[in-house]
Amino acid sequence: MKFEYVNFGKEAVFQDPYVTKVADTLIPYADGKKGSIGLMGLPLSKTSISYSQSADAPQKIRSHLKSFTTYSVELDIDFSNRMILDFGDCQTHPTDSTESINRLYKSVTDMLETNSCERYVILGGDHGISYPSIRAFSEKHGTIGVIQWDAHHDVRSFEASGRTNGTPFRSLIEGDHIKGRNIVQLGIRDFANSKKYSDYTKSKGIRMHTMGTIEKEGVSSILMRELLRLEKEVDFIYLSLDMDVVDQAYSPGCPAIGPGGMTSRELLASIEIASSHPKVKAIDIVEVDPSRDVRDLTSKLAAYALVKFMYSI
Ligand code: CA
Repeated sequence: MKFEYVNFGKEAVFQDPYVTKVADTLIPYADGKKGSIGLMGLPLSKTSISYSQSADAPQKIRSHLKSFTTYSVELDIDFSNRMILDFGDCQTHPTDSTESINRLYKSVTDMLETNSCERYVILGGDHGISYPSIRAFSEKHGTIGVIQWDAHHDVRSFEASGRTNGTPFRSLIEGDHIKGRNIVQLGIRDFANSKKYSDYTKSKGIRMHTMGTIEKEGVSSILMRELLRLEKEVDFIYLSLDMDVVDQAYSPGCPAIGPGGMTSRELLASIEIASSHPKVKAIDIVEVDPSRDVRDLTSKLAAYALVKFMYSI
């Protein structure tokens, strides 16, 4: 029997025939399929040094893709033909972090081996996932540059806790996967880091830009200058977006929230500028804990940043 106003097993959602949502362009990966953007979730937050349920973020951020349309009113372009191949989420180990990090590395490597997409999106997880992810990209694509939006350096020593969400960039430098001078940090916040790690950052040649510098110079002009420098040095640029770079007023769902960060507009404008560069081929978005969020402010901003990345020209 047919019911006129009921879809069996599905929620009732209003569908406007003249509107395409980003979620409508998401298709599961299968052998031989090609797409514009490959998407994979790395739901690991057991490597976080503070309480974090950011393992729930990949599904939460995906769910917001139904909140955004594929049409850019700013560009007057409809991006509904940019298909997103969804590789799903990597299954982590319940107790063994080292094994989990290996699985993340293997899964990103496998995704890149498919050669199915022009660009890739990785959804964390805590910031620890950037180590296996960037390592996989650097082994596949050659000399890599990273632009890191972050309140923190993330170059902690391994002595106290091994590999955590505080160590990804130290792991990459010490594993010789990237040169310090090819890492650009945007939004480092005052009284949120230590002298020892700031000194380490400088000694490795990492290009550090604090919130103070951003206030004086503007994040866009800093970024454009760094992109012009990086494009001569590297084959490929990876964006690593730690949502705690954004002020706590706009991203209350990060484990390490704080005042004095970027506004949501500064973040989105800078993601848009970076994503327009032809050498930028991937982004990871990390440190969103949906269990601590307020009305999904943080996960929705993360999804918006993701849309800006995917629909850049
Ligand atoms: Ca971080």
